[in-house]
Amino acid sequence: MTGTARLLDGKATALLIRREVADACARLRAARGIVPGLAVVLVGDDPASAIYVRNKEAAAREAGIDSRVVRMPASSSEAAILRTVEQLNGDPSVHGILVQIPLPDGIDEGRIQQAIDPDKDVDGLHPLNSGRLLAGLAGIVPCTPAGILELLLRNGVALAGRRAVVIGRSNIVGKPMAILLLREHCTVTICHSRTRDLAAVTSQAEILISAAGRPALIGAEHILPGAVVVDVGIHSITDVETCRRIFGDDPKRLQAVRERGFTLVGDVHPVEAAERAGWLTPVPGGVGPLTIALLLRNTYHAAAGRPAEEA
Ligand code: NAP
Repeated sequence: MTGTARLLDGKATALLIRREVADACARLRAARGIVPGLAVVLVGDDPASAIYVRNKEAAAREAGIDSRVVRMPASSSEAAILRTVEQLNGDPSVHGILVQIPLPDGIDEGRIQQAIDPDKDVDGLHPLNSGRLLAGLAGIVPCTPAGILELLLRNGVALAGRRAVVIGRSNIVGKPMAILLLREHCTVTICHSRTRDLAAVTSQAEILISAAGRPALIGAEHILPGAVVVDVGIHSITDVETCRRIFGDDPKRLQAVRERGFTLVGDVHPVEAAERAGWLTPVPGGVGPLTIALLLRNTYHAAAGRPAEEA
């Protein structure tokens, strides 16, 4: 990353958390004979999902978590997926269940999510866990926003009293992120696709979290000079023209597109943000590794029987 913004290194923070989880898992095994178990349900053959699942599996093993992937064909019915979830709910060796999204067309993701035992819901998406978060009760918090909060706190970013803007209102990122920041006493605004004059709102933010899912949407005009900017988006740029528009003549990026076929960019324009922000997460190496680290931590807590907040 070039420019004046300081690096908010998600990879380094994620490594620390993963080591803590590995130590905690070893202690749990030694003291109580419990090996945390994570089951990931993968329906269909979406290539990106297959990569995510492989990464999660490897990270879990490394932390001393017994990870298994339940693979189901793309043609699986909703009833068949619900039966799989029920079996995992009843399996005492499984402490955490994650159903990888997206699910094939025609499957109601909400229904599947709600079928997961809330105590095993390591994605934190069950309405009971969303409700606990909203009510300020202990529960399982979705991995990506929980990871971002860890990143901010562990890097000494002051939160209380500061103006925070979250772009995106999904149940998995935007909404829980806003609640977590509110809990840390930020003054929080949530933006979405109907927000009028996005830049007028975001340029007031001392803390700006973008989870819009739009490549390089956030330019200099969206950023308050010196702001803390967290980029949740992750997108593949596969053509040279778009790559040039975003990264100029950066030879490494151009080479990546030409030789590997893609380069990654977030929601935040990396060159403009690096000149204007005070702190910035890179893509890759920012939020992605934190999401996996917090999945491991949520699984550990599900096995140890303690609330996720007591990390
Ligand atoms: P999502 O469900 O598609 O939500 C996107 C949100 O952004 C929606 O609330 C949408 O508004 C809003 N939005 C879209 N375009 C906008 C615009 N031009 N201006 C303002 N707001 C806009 O996505 P998600 O699941 O929250 O994920 C968001 C991004 O984060 C995606 O790129 C995803 O791949 C990435 N992600 C990364 C990680 C990681 O570990 N790095 C984890 C999770 C997600 P409406 O509600 O009005 O439609």
